Order: sequence, then structure tokens, then C-alpha cells
Amino acid sequence: MVIDCDVHHGNGTAAIFAADPTVFTLSIHQYNNYPSEKPPSNVDVHLPDGIGDDEYLARLGAAVETALAFRPDLIFYLAGADPYRDDQLGGLALTVEGLLRRDRLVLGFGTPVAVTLAGGYAREVEDTVAIHCNTVRAACNVE
Ligand SMILES: [Zn+2]
Repeated sequence: MVIDCDVHHGNGTAAIFAADPTVFTLSIHQYNNYPSEKPPSNVDVHLPDGIGDDEYLARLGAAVETALAFRPDLIFYLAGADPYRDDQLGGLALTVEGLLRRDRLVLGFGTPVAVTLAGGYAREVEDTVAIHCNTVRAACNVE
């Protein structure tokens, strides 16, 4: 299973695995953003502009719980930092704390997870670094 939480749609994995029934793709992203053409994932959560922590986490949690009926052996988690509210290429409004809650949510289902860092273009680079470091800490459970 691929859980793509970059602010941009997971168009690559959606296209690559479209005809592969052994891989389930889930993308949660800002709808009004790159790419304009979004090949369908197994589950797409198209978010309007400006979504904040609580609505994002509610929608992600519901989508992942539904998707886990697929019973994946392994989750590849794309932990994008670009849903952050001060990202220059994103239009969502998550906080650093909200992104850490997102990490814990995806990591907390009891399925093994391989984490990949993804986009992050905050105005202050230290914010992108903090978001990615939080992901690593959450994955290592050393917060
Ligand atoms: Zn991105």
C-alpha cells in the first residue's frame, strides 16, 4: 500500500500501479494544485484549499481506515512536508504539530511502514527540517 501525504497528488504511483491489484494507492492532496491531470488512485482524498489540522486528520483517518480493508503487508508512507501552512508550493494550512499528528496516525495502525520523505518548500527552511525530523522521531518512537 502507498499512502501519499504529499500536498501534490500521487500521480506517479497511481499511474504505475493502476493495473496492479496487489498494490493499493491512497493519495490525500490539495485538489487545486499540480498536477492538473490526476490519474485515479484506489482512494483519492481531494482537499479544498486551506484545510487545517483537524479536518485533514479526520479525512485522512477515515480514508486510511477504509483502505486497510485491503490488509496490506507493508505501507509505503510518503511523508510530505508541503501540506504545511507556510509552504510556498502548497495551499493547505497544517501546523508542524498537525503534521506530527499525521505521522503518528499513519504509523499507528500496526502495519509495518517504510517512510519516505517527500516535498517541503517552507518559506523558512528550518520549518521543513523540523517537519521531516519529527517524522523520523515519530518513526523511531523517540520523541
Ligand atoms: Zn509535493
